[in-house]
Amino acid sequence: MALASWSTVAPRFLPQRLPRVCLAVSGDSIENILGTAESMARDNPFIEFRLDYLKQPLAALSKLHRFLETHQYVTAIATCRRAESGGKFKGSLAAQLEVLSKAHGAGCQLVDLELQSALKSKPEAIARLRSRAGLILSFHDFRGTRNLDDTLEKMLEIPADFYKVVSTATTLADNVAMMKFLQAQSGGHALIGLCMGEQGVISRVLSVRAGSVFTFGAASAELKTAPGQITTLDLRSIYRVDQVDTATRVYGVAGDPIGHSLSPVIMNTALRRENVNGVYLPLHAKTLKDLIHCVREIPLHGLSITMPYKQAILPYLDNTDAHTAKIGACNTVVRGQEGKLYGFNTDIAGVLRPLEQRLAIEKAKVLVLGAGGAARAAVFGLKERGAEVWILNRTSAKAQKLARQAKARTIKRADLRKIGFDVIINATPVGMGNAGDCPLKDAEIQARVVFDMVYDPVETHLLQVSRAKGIAVIPGVEMFVQQAARQFEIWTGKPAPAGDMLRAVTIALQERAAGLKQSKV
Ligand code: NAP
Repeated sequence: MALASWSTVAPRFLPQRLPRVCLAVSGDSIENILGTAESMARDNPFIEFRLDYLKQPLAALSKLHRFLETHQYVTAIATCRRAESGGKFKGSLAAQLEVLSKAHGAGCQLVDLELQSALKSKPEAIARLRSRAGLILSFHDFRGTRNLDDTLEKMLEIPADFYKVVSTATTLADNVAMMKFLQAQSGGHALIGLCMGEQGVISRVLSVRAGSVFTFGAASAELKTAPGQITTLDLRSIYRVDQVDTATRVYGVAGDPIGHSLSPVIMNTALRRENVNGVYLPLHAKTLKDLIHCVREIPLHGLSITMPYKQAILPYLDNTDAHTAKIGACNTVVRGQEGKLYGFNTDIAGVLRPLEQRLAIEKAKVLVLGAGGAARAAVFGLKERGAEVWILNRTSAKAQKLARQAKARTIKRADLRKIGFDVIINATPVGMGNAGDCPLKDAEIQARVVFDMVYDPVETHLLQVSRAKGIAVIPGVEMFVQQAARQFEIWTGKPAPAGDMLRAVTIALQERAAGLKQSKV
């Protein structure tokens, strides 16, 4: 669409034409801003230019003009948010209006003006601005999600083309409030709505199906212009926001913290690969009550449960499979059609599937290090399949208790070399995080197969030593993939694309390790 024709399009036609994702671009110089825009415009032709990040926005407009002249397919929003409304522009209200008006002259079809500025401006000044550019009247609540309807009512007193209501999610339920607001109000007005903050991810992805004309994405993790913003690349390739519709099933991983979970990468890869109309989101649940509210209201069709809720979720479930009951921990929830919640434990599949690809589990002699949740899944699963199991744990009383429950044995560290183990499984966190720690001394590592549940780093010290000794190794990513694959099968009834899932998680771990290395340089 050519630049000139956009400016002549009646603003009321704009919502249907706008892409679902607007790339928010910031930078400390116009060269940086335009450099980012240049490199991303082809894939993201709808761009918000955050002029308030510049020391002298007016002086930058000639360069912006040149950019927009040579990139006529770009639809541009100019934003120059004042500091008192949460932006970076320290100039006067008149200066802000001048920047926005001249930004339109430079080719921006839309301008964003905060409600606070609009309330202080003369109606004629706003009308003048709107006679030239499409006006987005915006309101940002940086503290919570409150009084959305009242806020909109106040905003509607000022004629605008779009009303943008952005709040902060401090609970998952705030997303529900935002989406209900959008559903109720978007029939009558062109709305843009979402929640900021790590807990607002649900709304950043799902608000478009609730009635928001579009959502915002960052250029990169470093260039976020709002808390909790997702990159446009992730919005499109991981969360497939362009395809989300009313039939899209919503899944998620719930825990506290959740920011570093790789489950969204692996599960969205599987959903895409198998053509399932579904999206899988990270859910930062500070309480289970909050999570359960969302499960019912959004609704969520399936949940992965992670730390610290694997045990605490049990009282909320209507029924569980035999593994969950035995282990006393649930990592998978299915919401039935009638709204009932069913619990499963797929960590057992995560342990057994990689092992049975290497050896016969029946009668195998297995040493399990640890007696926590993951060890319990391994011990019960292996016993069920006829393996002989020994448990070694830092706190021996816990090992003894598990051994009694699962009819396994405990072993003292000094006796390790008396038994020729077929398999050693590390179910402790020792070795996590590139520290080079190892749960056993080199001489104690004697087995046909060594399985390290730790998956970050992919190649732990334990696996390095084992490999050097010619022992077959199972890295923790395989367990991570197989427990996720089983979840996928439970939710969708389809076989999981385990190979693609493994590739996706391996790449994500490599990227994370490279990022860590870079940040240390
Ligand atoms: P958990 O319930 O907290 O249990 C941790 C176990 O490790 C306990 O038995 C604890 O011993 C022991 N431990 C902790 N720190 C230790 C140390 N410094 N030295 C020796 N023993 C130590 O944790 P979990 O959920 O079972 O998870 C254990 C590990 O498995 C974690 O690294 C987790 O990331 C990994 N995991 C991986 C997957 C996967 O898909 N690959 C799935 C689940 C878990 P005490 O009883 O003495 O405290």
